[in-house]
Amino acid sequence: MPRRRRRVFELFVLTIALVLGVSVLVGVGRDATPAPAGQRFDGTGRVVVRNAALVVTMDPTLGTGDLGLIENADVVLDGDRIRAVGRGAGRSVAGAKVIDGRGKIVLPGFVDLHTHAWQSLIRGCATDKELNGWLGGCVLPLYGAPVTAQDAYAGARLSTLDAVNTGVTTMTDWSHAFNADFARGNLRALADSGVRFVFSYAANANPATLDEVRRVKREVIDQNPLANLQIGSHPTTENYENLAASEQLARELGVPLNVHLHESRADPATGQMDALRRAGAIRPGLLVDHAIYLTDAELDELAAADVRVAHNPLSNMRLASGVIRLPDMRARNMKVGLGLDGGTNDTNDMFNDMRAAVGLQRATAADPTRYPQPSDALRMATLGGAEALGLDAEIGSLTPGKQADIQIVDPQETNFAPRVDWVSQLVFNAQPANVEWVFVAGVARKRGGQVLGDVDRAITEAQAAADRLRELLGR
Ligand SMILES: [Zn+2]
Repeated sequence: MPRRRRRVFELFVLTIALVLGVSVLVGVGRDATPAPAGQRFDGTGRVVVRNAALVVTMDPTLGTGDLGLIENADVVLDGDRIRAVGRGAGRSVAGAKVIDGRGKIVLPGFVDLHTHAWQSLIRGCATDKELNGWLGGCVLPLYGAPVTAQDAYAGARLSTLDAVNTGVTTMTDWSHAFNADFARGNLRALADSGVRFVFSYAANANPATLDEVRRVKREVIDQNPLANLQIGSHPTTENYENLAASEQLARELGVPLNVHLHESRADPATGQMDALRRAGAIRPGLLVDHAIYLTDAELDELAAADVRVAHNPLSNMRLASGVIRLPDMRARNMKVGLGLDGGTNDTNDMFNDMRAAVGLQRATAADPTRYPQPSDALRMATLGGAEALGLDAEIGSLTPGKQADIQIVDPQETNFAPRVDWVSQLVFNAQPANVEWVFVAGVARKRGGQVLGDVDRAITEAQAAADRLRELLGR
């Protein structure tokens, strides 16, 4: 593996041995009428989105086509669940808060399948470098540096607010955990955001680290209904011992392993696939990020094992990483979702990410019919991500009974109107500014176009932390 990356994981061993202790914030407000920031509409205060012009349910049994489209329909939220979807479904719901859906589009919240939430602090860093140059300039010098819980909180806080802004309701956060305090701040910001999250905790062979991950699961993750755990690792020949221990821990805890795989041209030579094979990690539920440089045989092997893929097109473009073999994964029925990949792409715009997923394939093949089409990208960004996480029984579509993770998009803006084909326009025209409402588990996190939370303070604190990191990075 590249020396820089090897250093990352050597430093993981040293730093992760320290302990994470995280308090869970589960704010549950009970308010029937327009709720204050971040509070829950539930019980007597059910929510009805009435007469939405288009509901993209992502459930073919509910509407037309693969995306289950319904026109002029209601969406009813009841507490943290979706209660009903369909024409007139909200007519007899008493005591509900009503949102006028006329002219609007309702769809599931986005699932960001791969990110590093703290990395909003290094936006704009080393913009002319590929993966290893960027890591060397913007990430690796922070191992062993005095980065704090406050830094992590500031970065992750800004990222979570920005995620909500673009309609993301589930984040998969592969945390670098530069030190125990940093990891603690990272996790606290995720919990405070009210966004559903999967915390990918990078482990190693150190027994103290393994104990700590067990403790975090028991005391933090299992206590928060919005929280899920993965074990993060980095598979290479050099790092095999840590990978094997991480895989063992993932099995013990019954959670998925999450690894970066063949992201850059240099990665295959580091023995990533062999390390995963030796560790017995190529099995259902494994989530691999990027997965660009794979042979036919490797794709067959991963597909046969039901391994899932996080595609990060904006990051791949920014770092000149390469172009994923998406049509070949599709042909093998692999579960693929979309990720924003933190600071490497410098934006949390999921519409832009979908556009890039379509555009990369078209541009490289000079073929506009190539997979994915806009509807495919929309599915990858919602249900596809949920399937990749194994959370599709709970999220990813507007199927009644699932979690009330939804977004309402207003297309009546200069960048989006007029209506021709809204499904394609969601991918080619939409921007975060068009997202008017975001609910996570029935709780409004964006309302009337405003992200709920201390946005100004988050920006001020992120600036201070970014300035600090810049000094530490010597940039
Ligand atoms: Zn990444």
